[in-house]
Amino acid sequence: MSRTLDGKVALVTGGSRGIGRAIAERLGRDGAVVAVAYARDTASAEEVVARIRKDGGRAFAIRAELGEHGDAVRLWDAFDAAVEEFAPAGGVDVLVNNAAIATSSDLDGLTEEELDRVFAVNVRAPFFIVKEGLGRLRDGGRIVNISSGVARIALPRVIAYSSTKGALDVFTLNLAKLLGPRGITVNSVAPGYVDTDVNAGWLRTDPEAAAEAAAAAALGRVGQPDDIAGVVAFLASDDARWVTGRVVDATGGTAL
Ligand code: NAP
Repeated sequence: MSRTLDGKVALVTGGSRGIGRAIAERLGRDGAVVAVAYARDTASAEEVVARIRKDGGRAFAIRAELGEHGDAVRLWDAFDAAVEEFAPAGGVDVLVNNAAIATSSDLDGLTEEELDRVFAVNVRAPFFIVKEGLGRLRDGGRIVNISSGVARIALPRVIAYSSTKGALDVFTLNLAKLLGPRGITVNSVAPGYVDTDVNAGWLRTDPEAAAEAAAAAALGRVGQPDDIAGVVAFLASDDARWVTGRVVDATGGTAL
């Protein structure tokens, strides 16, 4: 049976855990060779690779800390060195900018260093990953940027984080115009609350807060990483070839 991404190569940043892991595993099941990029957690990244292989797919892990100058060049150097074994022609068809960090400071508590760091990881890194990757990205390819519902829904206690996602959505919009002539689509996917490590501290320990988060979504529950992976898989597929420059809401209908 042919799968939607047979013969394609995908790179997922932050592919070792949470939403990125679900995306990497899904794209692997859909037939892509998957590069699982991560920062520190080698064991988790190797687990994802093993899982994809167990499901009959092909994958490899690449370690590259984002948020430092030169990060994009280092990421692509690691990708180039590893991809040859799996796809000798090199290049990439699907790029998913998923890795990001959160900040919990409100405007009062925010420091310049915190703001610089969150923008460096969440905005500057995707910006330069695309810039440095354009020569590798094949015509007809896909870029999916993982944004957040908080770029649309005001949540002042995470104002800095939300602002990075707003910037990412503007990046998506302009990039779609720029890359359209090459048949490359560029979209953002905006999740709401999702049950990942980043929320584990409260979501898995505070039933009241968990119930509130579930009630915020019209669909009445907190998202699971697979909910987001399905949307990304659609955007990566040929069926989504006519969708570009959009923010696809994947919040389960939060704040409708
Ligand atoms: P997560 O569970 O914290 O996983 C983060 C992933 O990003 C890990 O693979 C981590 O690698 C990698 N990463 C973190 N900092 C990095 C850095 N400096 N350089 C390179 N890689 C780094 O996050 P998540 O909840 O799955 O979130 C994934 C995406 O969804 C993010 O863009 C986030 O903003 C967005 N989002 C999440 C939610 C939510 O409720 N969870 C809601 C809306 C949007 P290591 O394992 O090596 O640390």
